[in-house]
Amino acid sequence: MKLLGEIIGHQDIISLLRKAVDTGRVAHAYLFAGPAGVGKGTVARAFARALLCRQPRQGDACGQCRDCRQAAQGNHPDLIFVQPTPNTIKIDQVREIQQRFALTPYQGFRQVGVIEQAETMTAEAANCFLKTLEEPQGESVFILLSDQPYLLLPTVVSRCQQIFFHFLSFGEVVEGLVALAGLERAKAELPAALSGGSLGRAVKLAAQGNLTGQRKKAFTAAAALTEAFSGEALRLAQNFAGEREEVHLLFETLLLWYRDLLVWRVSGDEKLLVNRDFLPLIRQEAKNCTTSRIIDIIYKVEQAKNRLRANANPRLTVEVLFVQLGRKEG
Ligand SMILES: [Zn+2]
Repeated sequence: MKLLGEIIGHQDIISLLRKAVDTGRVAHAYLFAGPAGVGKGTVARAFARALLCRQPRQGDACGQCRDCRQAAQGNHPDLIFVQPTPNTIKIDQVREIQQRFALTPYQGFRQVGVIEQAETMTAEAANCFLKTLEEPQGESVFILLSDQPYLLLPTVVSRCQQIFFHFLSFGEVVEGLVALAGLERAKAELPAALSGGSLGRAVKLAAQGNLTGQRKKAFTAAAALTEAFSGEALRLAQNFAGEREEVHLLFETLLLWYRDLLVWRVSGDEKLLVNRDFLPLIRQEAKNCTTSRIIDIIYKVEQAKNRLRANANPRLTVEVLFVQLGRKEG
């Protein structure tokens, strides 16, 4: 379990949380909202640890006291995690945490509840939880995590201090991969570029390894699409109609591909390419497209990615995109 000071990225959020601990001006409830895989959970655990530490240093946990050690080992009696079981958080789970928080803290001066995927609370559970927010008990602090905060009750949201997490920059993901996965910087660049700003996803991609085969498949399809009418475009789409995560990776791969075509057309500088190992194909395809067409395609892939994020059907999203990128009939 990390300290706040060890976290990569989200520095504005980290300093806000450290200031809260340092000054003792801690809200009763926080909502950490933002996309999956950017580190909301990591920050929440580190914040919880700082909140429970007896001798915080500049708002961060000391990492050495009994509370810090217990929190790190996952057995601090005043730190409670609530997760969906299996798909929703039920009223009984909320009642249980309420009962525990009605008692004085076991050993510390404060209790911390981390509610993961808070949007999965059933209506009953959310209404029950609302009472806790309306009448906070003692020094309890709740941290709600959600990548779909618009599904939460507005009355719950309005009683939380809302903190918005964003995607990490390319440089931050590279730095994270070097630190977490022990990769060399040069080897971290491709998974970082394909991660869409999610360190969690970058770590998975780096571990999975076969990025070359996966890129080759996507680039070959992209090249074939230039000549493909709708029927053929749909047939090509069948090779990618998989799980949401796979389709997401396809879109990130395509974005990098078209970005490379654009960079090559504009600069002709090999050093600026991400997929340098595909230079012959990039050179050939860059000739087949105009710059304005490549820009248009990049917008279309971005739109498809946003639709996927907004929960569109993955298979349909690939099919629509491929038909859009194919040749127009007649
Ligand atoms: Zn400590």
